Amino acid sequence: MAFVTRFAPSPTGPLHLGHAYSALLAYDMAVAEGGKFLLRIEDIDRSRSRPEWESQIYDDLQWLGIWWDEVPQRQSDRLSDYSKALDDLWLRGLIYPCRCTRRDIEAALSAPQEGAEVPAGPDGLIYPGTCRSEMSYERSFSENYPRPTDANLRLDLGCIADSLIFEHRIDSANGGWHWYTSYRETGIGPNGQSGLVEFSPEDMQKAVGDFVIARRDIGTSYHLSVVLDDAAQGVTHVVRGADLTEATKIHVLLQRLLSLPTPIYHHHRLIRDDQGKRLAKRDDARALSKYRAEGATPADIRRMVGL
Ligand code: GLU
Repeated sequence: MAFVTRFAPSPTGPLHLGHAYSALLAYDMAVAEGGKFLLRIEDIDRSRSRPEWESQIYDDLQWLGIWWDEVPQRQSDRLSDYSKALDDLWLRGLIYPCRCTRRDIEAALSAPQEGAEVPAGPDGLIYPGTCRSEMSYERSFSENYPRPTDANLRLDLGCIADSLIFEHRIDSANGGWHWYTSYRETGIGPNGQSGLVEFSPEDMQKAVGDFVIARRDIGTSYHLSVVLDDAAQGVTHVVRGADLTEATKIHVLLQRLLSLPTPIYHHHRLIRDDQGKRLAKRDDARALSKYRAEGATPADIRRMVGL
């Protein structure tokens, strides 16, 4: 089987040890499989992306001994592809505009029990559906009604629950239909397992909710862009941190809706600081460039991340 993987950093800060681990692991896997390693610059958030961080990414990766096989893809060059996919989903009545603020959502979620914790999933707060019902009339005429660009757009999970994207089988416990879909995980799945990960429309509604598929300010979302880009780059194996394990259900669902292939996923352990906290962009102390400036070699970095 062909093996095409990628590293997809956002140029919003310096690469740190966690990025080094992810890039080196994916690169080593591609080399071991005689496959390809691609690079993608995830710069849809123009307000936070900087050209100097992008240059630093190329520089750090080359220093680590990583070479990519094709011209890197930049998400900011692909906005029209994202827009086409949104038009398709809009015309199929699967997405709806939402003008709720975070405060509106929090208020709607916590109304019944003041002070209770509001439910959150891999895409933040689980949306209570406030704008979904208001829009049903509008959506039934979506062909004559252009997709609004002045609102966030959400995917209507209620609408897709019984659509053909899920497979079904008889549930042995109660004899009813069980709808599900699945993907293959070779690393850390939702319960830490490798193998086939299955999930149902109900799981999605409960654990994710109607997520934002296009943000008003950027016209797309990480989720939509990542599935379209992985397909466009012919990625067969996604290697990335276990912090994205839960988001994978969103990605698989979008692949089904947009008739895109589903890669094999390999979620890896996260590199943590001395307090056990996951490294973030703001942890400049762990920036690769700092280690380089202090005289560390690429072999030292490999050792530090356990490779
Ligand atoms: N751009 C994402 C990040 O920097 C990675 C997304 C992915 O690998 O799917 O965390």
